[in-house]
Amino acid sequence: MINSYFEKIFPFAYNYFSKLFELIQKNEKEFPQAIIFEGSNTINQYLFALELARILNCENNGKKNCNCINCKWIKSYSHPAINNVSQIHFKGEDDETKTVISVKQALKIERALSLSSDYHRFFIFFSSKEKIYNDDELKNFRELGYDTNINFSIDPLNYSSFHPTTPNALLKSIEEPPQKTTFIFLTKSKEDILQTIVSRCLTFKLSSKKENLSYKEIYSYISDYPKIDYYKAIDISDNLQKYIKENSTLEIVLNQFLEFLKDLIKQNYFNTFLCTKIKNDINFVNNAIKQSKANISDKIVLDTLMLKIARGY
Ligand SMILES: [Zn+2]
Repeated sequence: MINSYFEKIFPFAYNYFSKLFELIQKNEKEFPQAIIFEGSNTINQYLFALELARILNCENNGKKNCNCINCKWIKSYSHPAINNVSQIHFKGEDDETKTVISVKQALKIERALSLSSDYHRFFIFFSSKEKIYNDDELKNFRELGYDTNINFSIDPLNYSSFHPTTPNALLKSIEEPPQKTTFIFLTKSKEDILQTIVSRCLTFKLSSKKENLSYKEIYSYISDYPKIDYYKAIDISDNLQKYIKENSTLEIVLNQFLEFLKDLIKQNYFNTFLCTKIKNDINFVNNAIKQSKANISDKIVLDTLMLKIARGY
């Protein structure tokens, strides 16, 4: 379904949406109506938004390299229901603003949504101006089979991208869209757009694990999690003690482990059983952090923690 290109660059979002599409097929979930993407690579955010739109509209279930009319339209930026919204996209004829996303554009969206559609409609908001790309910049487009005849920039939104009154004019559409409608906002950080919009959106940090990984130094020791039995528990504890002696402190390692568990919970959002276990283990780690501050030896704290994780109590 989702092109594996995105598994490499946005592993968390790739897993999240892959699972979500499975649940949507079984009619157990609906696709979110408003999403913020945060991160440093806005072009890849845009391509990811288009990939999601492609899967929801494809006639062959989002097959990779599909050539159905919907996939063709999306890959040439001309799908009637997949709309770019920027300073230079989705402007009405009577709209003379050129440097902001205007109220007239918000009203144009409202009018568009008042008509019914068989498609899953997307409105992808970003900041844009005319741009000529060099060959290197088009690499990602080419790899995903997108038309490289593209003449607009894809930049992150910020406060000045919108006319000050536009966000309010958008609220009604964002809050109560017709079925099968999704708004996506491409940003560096959600701090860059108004809270009124942010509070109505699901936010996804689109970054590679490496950028994100505060626990990468200890990952190799704990990567078996959650499959930790009694023997593995003692092994992990021993290895972490050695690692701490040479490189770190107990408290840092426990906090890294905590980050790891929090990340895992996000990636397994739909797996209630696993999430319950992780939440339980987060409590164990928090207790261990308290002990680490109370001068209890590394060995006792880590042995106790790992055994609790293996046993579940
Ligand atoms: Zn298709």
